[in-house]
Amino acid sequence: MPVCWLISEEGMHKPIQLPHWHAVVLGRGPETTIKDKKCSRQQVELKAECNKGYVKVKQLGSNPTSVDSVEIGKSNEVKMKPGQLLHMVNELYAYTVHFKEDLSGEQRGVKRPRESVPVNKETSSQTASPVTTKKYDKEKSGQTDCHTQASKNDRGFGHWNQGLKVSMQDPKLQIYKDETVVVIKDKYPKARFHWLVLPWQSIVHLKFLRKEHCDLLRHMQKIGEQMVLQCPDSDSLRFRIGFHIIPAMSHLHLHVISQDFDSPYLKNKKHWNSFTTDYFIETKDVLKMLESDGRVSVKEGTSELLKLPLRCHICHRELSTIPALKEHLKSHFSRKKEKN
Ligand code: AMP
Ligand code: ZN
Repeated sequence: MPVCWLISEEGMHKPIQLPHWHAVVLGRGPETTIKDKKCSRQQVELKAECNKGYVKVKQLGSNPTSVDSVEIGKSNEVKMKPGQLLHMVNELYAYTVHFKEDLSGEQRGVKRPRESVPVNKETSSQTASPVTTKKYDKEKSGQTDCHTQASKNDRGFGHWNQGLKVSMQDPKLQIYKDETVVVIKDKYPKARFHWLVLPWQSIVHLKFLRKEHCDLLRHMQKIGEQMVLQCPDSDSLRFRIGFHIIPAMSHLHLHVISQDFDSPYLKNKKHWNSFTTDYFIETKDVLKMLESDGRVSVKEGTSELLKLPLRCHICHRELSTIPALKEHLKSHFSRKKEKN
């Protein structure tokens, strides 16, 4: 039977073992080293189902616990698998779960659960190798060695937030690729032109970036800029290139989006604010953070940005509804050739 470990992605403390079918309650306190008053002492209840390869996460505290940025809701319970990111409270204090074969020699032969770590073809059907510090560090950074490993391993995720991993592997959706990245069209574009640049390397999202990823980011940005240059409307449209600081979808992706926001898929305040407030972070700012702090930090209250009133990104006028905003945007975009 595999053993389940709860890993603090910020390295706040050593991994905590979650025994099979046993409720573990965690929150603010010495075990997690969380001191934030917004986090209850009994914030979550975690129950590992080691034979099935997931952990049931129940939110006990009143402030939001989330899995892959989806809030669970007080007294609700969701299943969390390896590769998903748990935030203990308010999109802060990131955790992942990992299942490792119990190396005690007992109960061998239990099917290995899916994991986000690289699995070689040769070894994927065998029992896992012992945990080494090196391997742990590699998993922690959310990395794998090459895209073939990442893609083999990532297939089979059925959750909606794993969709990019499927799309990026589909040759029909790839509009550019090189050894390092692939570009696809956003499936639900929020503007006339909206592409996503994704690395082949399996990186869950921004929180997993470290200093050593700076070159990768620069390359992603360069390819994003090339996409803009080859766009037939690049002389009349302004583009922005950046990330959602709290992404909804797994697998690091850089948005390249024209600033017309002329799209039927742009339907609500959350969509609008995610691209027009500081929720959208440009590559240069991610690079600055990585160079100075070695990681990307999310300020407390960031998710509140999505609730801000609707405001035109060009003239800053406040609009009361999405239809009113869309009507207003027409006034900016009817004047042809003007860079918007
Ligand atoms: P976010 O995770 O908030 O940075 O945004 C994820 C983006 O992925 C959104 O703009 C979605 O429209 C887009 N998206 C969602 N599912 C897919 C998919 N299967 N293929 C391509 N794009 C997708
Ligand atoms: Zn305006």
